[in-house]
Amino acid sequence: MIYLDHSATTPVDPRVVDAMTPYWTEMYGNPSSVYGLGRRSAAALEDARRTVARILNAQPTEIVFTSCGTESDNLAIRGTALAAAAKGRRHLITTPIEHHAVLHTVADLVERFDFEVTHIPVDRSGLVDPALVQAAIRPDTALISVMMANNEVGTIEPVAEIGAIARQFGVPFHTDAVQAAASMSLDVEALQVDLLALSAHKFHGPKGVGLLYVRKGTRLGPVQTGGSQERGRRAGTENVPYIVGVARALELSQADRQAEHARLLALRERLLAGILERIPGVELTGHRERRLPGHLSFIVRGVEAQSLLIALDLAGIAASSGSACASGAPTPSGVLRAMGYTPDEALGALRLTLGRSNSEADVDTVLEQLPEIVKRVRGA
Ligand code: PLP
Repeated sequence: MIYLDHSATTPVDPRVVDAMTPYWTEMYGNPSSVYGLGRRSAAALEDARRTVARILNAQPTEIVFTSCGTESDNLAIRGTALAAAAKGRRHLITTPIEHHAVLHTVADLVERFDFEVTHIPVDRSGLVDPALVQAAIRPDTALISVMMANNEVGTIEPVAEIGAIARQFGVPFHTDAVQAAASMSLDVEALQVDLLALSAHKFHGPKGVGLLYVRKGTRLGPVQTGGSQERGRRAGTENVPYIVGVARALELSQADRQAEHARLLALRERLLAGILERIPGVELTGHRERRLPGHLSFIVRGVEAQSLLIALDLAGIAASSGSACASGAPTPSGVLRAMGYTPDEALGALRLTLGRSNSEADVDTVLEQLPEIVKRVRGA
């Protein structure tokens, strides 16, 4: 199989599995326990927190471990919005191309807690204009949330510029960095963000663990209440093996980030050039340059993406048509609609995302097979 869906998920790095394993069977103590076994778990937890903090250029106390990227986004948005509502601030700013973890959380705040939202329009490449964000800020704005890189079209947003504006106006700024984590620097000072969400399974860590960076001084209430874990910001016994795993995966992926970035960029350009040359009626979606290094997304005219994905699967190529969560239902992508594509165009969306496992040989195989597969699906 040629796996071209690294934006959906990635295999766990065996070195990450090795780091996690002892925390199930040998060092299984509860980090809150006073005896030695518990203290060893607590030490592993704090070690993981320090590792993550160092990579993010943050303080260990600013890191909250969660169960996934979705939970990190929920905690960032609901946690700060409800704290701000207590002070009379009920306005949120976001974009129509965010992941559902953000969009549905914002929609819930609007529906059930009387918040108002401004969705900043994006251009045809999926790019957000920081000037439009600035223009949308109101005295009662509680939070700005703009993703670092889009999952469906790979466009990289001007997060540092938006961060500078948010800071100037004293508005907390959240970024969903789930897709960016594998290939970009996550320095929260350079990015000027107050809240940053990550998910381990996008950078060769396990599914079901994520984290949220919360800048010191950011008013954030808990969403999940119970014990006093994570400094009262996220109750529940800490999932020590997974937390060890997310830290190790982040450390490993950031260590070879630059080399991998260059390698993926070369593969991506080879694949892109080949596809545009060999298949008529194909248009690249997302920004041509400002995009994730392994990310390609297209509109393939005259095909229904689901049929194309099935034909690709039969040929041993795993691809997707947008975000993994949305690909079960053949409804046109809201992201592409927001970028100005028609519903019909959006139904022909194809996403090919390269990663660690891919080689030049994979690219060449795809270039040999894809034109024929598209022709066949178009014919049918
Ligand atoms: N945000 C973005 C941009 C994503 O791509 C995803 C997953 O696809 C998520 C959030 C959700 O992360 P998780 O699968 O860990 O809940």
